[in-house]
Amino acid sequence: MVEGSFIDSGGHANNTIQIVEEVLDLDRAIGKALDFAAKDGQTLIVVASDHETGGMTINGGSFESGMVKGEFTTGGHTGVMTPIFAYGPGASEFGGIMENTDIHAKIYKLLFGEK
Ligand SMILES: [Zn+2]
Repeated sequence: MVEGSFIDSGGHANNTIQIVEEVLDLDRAIGKALDFAAKDGQTLIVVASDHETGGMTINGGSFESGMVKGEFTTGGHTGVMTPIFAYGPGASEFGGIMENTDIHAKIYKLLFGEK
């Protein structure tokens, strides 16, 4: 298990640089895990978040400059839905919209069968 916890800290602090650096670090870790899973063929990778923090919205920018203008709407957690990505055996269990507490049950089912 790998956690990019400074994404949340950066959201609380409304610190875009901290968020971007942590997302890039997490992306590199996920890339390594995906490389392993592709070779192994028996590893399920699940990438999820328990919530969104900071409520960043993009409210400006241009294609010509390649820049966007973002603004935080809060220093706390929000109710915005967050994506889940999965790769490997059982990945199809994680599509659509679900409660984040369902992730545990789905992983349990894949490992041990129905309760
Ligand atoms: Zn938090």
